[in-house]
Amino acid sequence: MKNLAIRWKITIWYTIALILVMIFTCGVVLLASNRILQKTICDNLVETLEHNVDEIEFFSSIEEIQKSSDVDHLVKYNEGYLEIDDDFLDQVNEVYTSLYRANGELMYGENPISREILELKFTDSQIRQIKVNGILYYVFDRELTGDGLEGLWLRGIVSELQGKGQLSDIAKFSLILLPLLILFSVVGGYLIAKRMLRPIQHLTETVVRIEKGGDLKQRIQLDKGNDELHQLANHFNQMFSRLEESFEMERRFASDVSHELRTPMAVIRAQCEFSLEKTRDTDQYIKALQVIQRQSKKMSKLISDMLEFTRLEMRAEYYNKEMIDMTELVTSICSDMALLKEKGISLQYETQQKIAVLGNYALLSRLLINLISNAYRYGKEGGHIWVDLQEDKRSIKLSVKDDGIGIKKEEQANIFRRFYQADHSRSGQGTGLGLALAQEIAQFHGGRIEVQSDYGKGSKFTVILPRNDENNFY
Ligand code: ADP
Repeated sequence: MKNLAIRWKITIWYTIALILVMIFTCGVVLLASNRILQKTICDNLVETLEHNVDEIEFFSSIEEIQKSSDVDHLVKYNEGYLEIDDDFLDQVNEVYTSLYRANGELMYGENPISREILELKFTDSQIRQIKVNGILYYVFDRELTGDGLEGLWLRGIVSELQGKGQLSDIAKFSLILLPLLILFSVVGGYLIAKRMLRPIQHLTETVVRIEKGGDLKQRIQLDKGNDELHQLANHFNQMFSRLEESFEMERRFASDVSHELRTPMAVIRAQCEFSLEKTRDTDQYIKALQVIQRQSKKMSKLISDMLEFTRLEMRAEYYNKEMIDMTELVTSICSDMALLKEKGISLQYETQQKIAVLGNYALLSRLLINLISNAYRYGKEGGHIWVDLQEDKRSIKLSVKDDGIGIKKEEQANIFRRFYQADHSRSGQGTGLGLALAQEIAQFHGGRIEVQSDYGKGSKFTVILPRNDENNFY
């Protein structure tokens, strides 16, 4: 049973239930019909007897009988005669009515169990049962009380089998019809179950195809519908899409990484080959070593950025969050970085007091350092950087603004992509991961980064983080 397909399990279950219900219903119907039938038989017996009581009269002489209009059956009784009307129902609806003396002597009529019935004493107006040869009979007696009728009894007998023919016809009919009905419902039910469960079959087939071929482009194809199975299939399709997307991202990431590492590696190899080719003078060695140092720095930054990225993406739980004094964080980083004075650029900062954020100190520092580093890297000689930390009712806004080279409109959407570099000549030690990482950090804190930029005039990056008042430690 465990290994059976669901459609079979459903079919077997309801077939059993159907058979039980039908057996129960038939049983109840037959039982009820039999009860009604037996009651009808008894009522009929009583009615026939009561009718027959009035059809017997006593006449003391033949002359008296001749005076009455119609003479039917005559039976000599005591000093006179009993006249039994033609209306006397001695064998109607299988009710046998007979006339007896009180001592059991049969005077008129007959009955199917005459011998056995003699043993039964007469009792007035009471239905009794007697079993003869396995068949149940109902017996009803009436004592005659009219003039001259003393000492006479009418006895009616009817078998319980009377009318059973119809009942057995119904039973036989049911025995043929019910199995046919069950068969019909089982086949119909099986086909419906099969049709209803088809999405699951599609789902299994698709999952097996993906498992065997590894092709995540496969989707579960269903007709229109919105039942639970269609919803399940839709969720699976959405999951496949997301999986496909993340596999594609992983693939692109791996290929980007190898591409990014290949260039500095090639430069280092070339410098080594150049140095080892033949004896060079000291200046050439120094230059070669400087190039190697620069490229290896770039590589190690790339690797550490990537590591940070992967950790953030794959193992966010690696970074715990706590309440951070954001004002202190911004002040300390800005005051340190203001000392750089790269290209004569000055850095100014302004922070609202007592701003707290539920976050990771190292990550938020990294985010701000990346934005300020970019502002220096892409700033103009003698330019300015403005850092601002503000809080309103709903969010905390940290912005880094510069009056540097700016970013072209068409490139603004791409700068948050991994390894995307809009201006290669300026990127220098940049890896193309700085903004992507900053965005990832903002998202890790439930926020985002927005950019506004005028090409040639400068850029403003704004980090928007949600406020977390419950945890505000001020
Ligand atoms: P990179 O390591 O190249 O700086 P980022 O991810 O930090 O990589 O930035 C992506 C690109 O966005 C940069 O190559 C640069 O073209 C552009 N960019 C980032 N910050 C600024 C800025 N403040 N001014 C102008 N361009 C910027």
